[in-house]
Amino acid sequence: MENDKTILSEDKCVQDELRREINATLGVIFSLNDEKAFSPVDPYKLRKKIDELLFLPEKGLGFDNTLENIKESVIPYLIKTWSKEYMPHLHSPVLLESIASELLLTLFNDSMDSWDQGPSATEVECKVIDELCHLFGYGKDSSGSFTSGGSASNSSSLYAARDYYIKNKLGVDVKKYGVPDEGKKLRLYVSELSHFSFEKTAYMLGLGSDSVRKVPSDENGRMDISIFKKMVEDDIKDGLLPFFAVATIGTTDFGSIDDALLMREICDKYDMHLHLDAAYGSALIMSSKYSKRFPLCISDSITIDFHKMFLLPISCSAVLFRDKEKMNCFTLHADYLNREEDEEEGYINLVDRGAQTTRRFDALKVLFSFECRGKDGYDKIVTHLIDNAEFFYLLLSSDDDFYLPLKGDISIVTFSYKKNNEVNKKIRKTLLNDGIVIGQTTYKGLVMLKVTLLNPNVQKEDLIKLKERIKQIGSSLC
Ligand SMILES: *Cc1c(COP(=O)(O)O)cnc(C)c1O
Repeated sequence: MENDKTILSEDKCVQDELRREINATLGVIFSLNDEKAFSPVDPYKLRKKIDELLFLPEKGLGFDNTLENIKESVIPYLIKTWSKEYMPHLHSPVLLESIASELLLTLFNDSMDSWDQGPSATEVECKVIDELCHLFGYGKDSSGSFTSGGSASNSSSLYAARDYYIKNKLGVDVKKYGVPDEGKKLRLYVSELSHFSFEKTAYMLGLGSDSVRKVPSDENGRMDISIFKKMVEDDIKDGLLPFFAVATIGTTDFGSIDDALLMREICDKYDMHLHLDAAYGSALIMSSKYSKRFPLCISDSITIDFHKMFLLPISCSAVLFRDKEKMNCFTLHADYLNREEDEEEGYINLVDRGAQTTRRFDALKVLFSFECRGKDGYDKIVTHLIDNAEFFYLLLSSDDDFYLPLKGDISIVTFSYKKNNEVNKKIRKTLLNDGIVIGQTTYKGLVMLKVTLLNPNVQKEDLIKLKERIKQIGSSLC
């Protein structure tokens, strides 16, 4: 095949073409000069538009025509995560320099499974993991891995803890013999406001939904520790095997933080694995003003999402283990990939540390932004986001039209307008038609609206305007 600009090479024409394509793409993005999060559209109409795309024409359309088509039918309805009017989920805009680091890792396309598919990539991931372990208070026996997201990080922790428990407490090697009958008695404890990935993993691991104990939360949205303790003790009395508990550091609906220090005491007493699901709240550690809210206790594992409050491109997440021996469940040798002798010669094959094989060099994004901005740069961003949430909470709670059952600890504000479920649903839809996206959830049967503040450009004036718009829509509906 002749060199016809198929892949990157030393050829200057090819390099010029790449530059042209990237510039044209940026041109399209920069031409979207309105502030809305996306162009409001009816889902049926959008489906029809997308259905009209050719997909696989007999003869390719070439770069410019394809970009033109995508510009018409896809780009207007992409979420502009950088819009100040986008605030429904833990779904963030990305830091400017991370677009460059993402380009780097995409362009080289190194893979993390074996050293010979990414020498510096492997070494960078190892360094980033070691530094993160240090940042989160773990010692020299710790390790971890990058994963595709918080759900995968949470699953990894539960999977590893299960195998470790069965091996050390029940004396059965799950890798070889599978889960013994006693495994049916395993129990794990999460707050009722925790993320659903633990329950999903419990199904996937064959533990069943009965193995997941949902501990009620208190009036601050935190796990009720006395009930947690009682549930564990009752289960032990019933001959069951409590082995794992989750402290959520930033719940998805309120951003509340469980008391991990008290949970640690109970886990120590009954020899249970304590996992911190800090997918959202891990970024607190960057804020000089608010880092005290992060319960820096000695957990057994931690989930960190960099594609949430650290504002890095999807996907980018890590799971850390205090004792790297717990990661043995991920190791299996294949002659074509990760030979045992490699390690003796100093070659690290990261496939040994996680569930995925081919994996992106996401650690570069962390290294790049951390080095580029420093602790100080991240401190400014994270502190500003939480300051905004504190401000918005006070603004709404001082107005009788709004009901705020609890105050979160990070950057989410959840409220109901006059406790009227139908009106709240309509407020969200009306805002959506304006191109303003906020979230919706329920709390004790009430429909709640939710504003997740992850955009560093949002200022107090924007929040005042948002409140006024909500009141305007609300009063027109009541
Ligand atoms: C977002 C989130 C998850 C899931 O993470 P993904 O990256 O979406 O897979 C898990 N736990 C908490 C607390 C989260 O906020």
